[in-house]
Amino acid sequence: MRLLLASNNRHKLHEIAILLAPHRIQLPSDIGVEFSHDENEDTFLENAVGKAMHLYNITGQPTLADDSGLMVDALGGVPGVHTARYGEDIFNRELTSVEKYMYLLEEMKHVRQPDRSARFVCTLALVLSQDRIFTVQETVEGSIAEQPFGLGGFGYDPVFIVHGGTRTMAAMTDSEKNHLSHRGRAARRMLAIIQSVESEEQFYVC
Ligand code: IMP
Repeated sequence: MRLLLASNNRHKLHEIAILLAPHRIQLPSDIGVEFSHDENEDTFLENAVGKAMHLYNITGQPTLADDSGLMVDALGGVPGVHTARYGEDIFNRELTSVEKYMYLLEEMKHVRQPDRSARFVCTLALVLSQDRIFTVQETVEGSIAEQPFGLGGFGYDPVFIVHGGTRTMAAMTDSEKNHLSHRGRAARRMLAIIQSVESEEQFYVC
């Protein structure tokens, strides 16, 4: 199946394209569509469905959206649905990924293990038509490192240690991260949904 990803984030595209292979995933810009969506909802689920439906309404093509973020227990679940914009209200400007995770480390400088627990959440929404919407949500448990480490991944990967391990997600290979991550888990469930939809369609065509 060919799917549009309701995002401009090439890091997400890279991970999702590997995870959902052999399905072909494209960004709106790959087909000449300009897309932006205000993520104003209170939950990952509502944001994911909202993004996917918005792009579906523009193109009429099967559309996938990923809404994801980091929830830190010592901060009461913050940054949560606001992970992409974390710290912007304090600094009054858009921050780089490094600035965002350094701000997080600063906010947690008095918190010691085992109280640095956190999880990444990933919600995937697939819109096939106005009335056919499939969603999955998965998490990966872990903790916030005291120092950034690693050059891989994106976003907060340099400060996130997966539960039971010692390395940050940025110190993992792409396939190690995909095996363990919130997005990897959610994408494998979505792959099963896509496969069941396709086999049902073949059944009706026969
Ligand atoms: P959104 O889904 O566009 O709202 O953005 C979610 C934000 O969460 C991203 O911009 C990243 O900063 C962060 N994030 C989501 N998934 C990951 C991940 O796999 N690694 C590191 N950071 C992530």
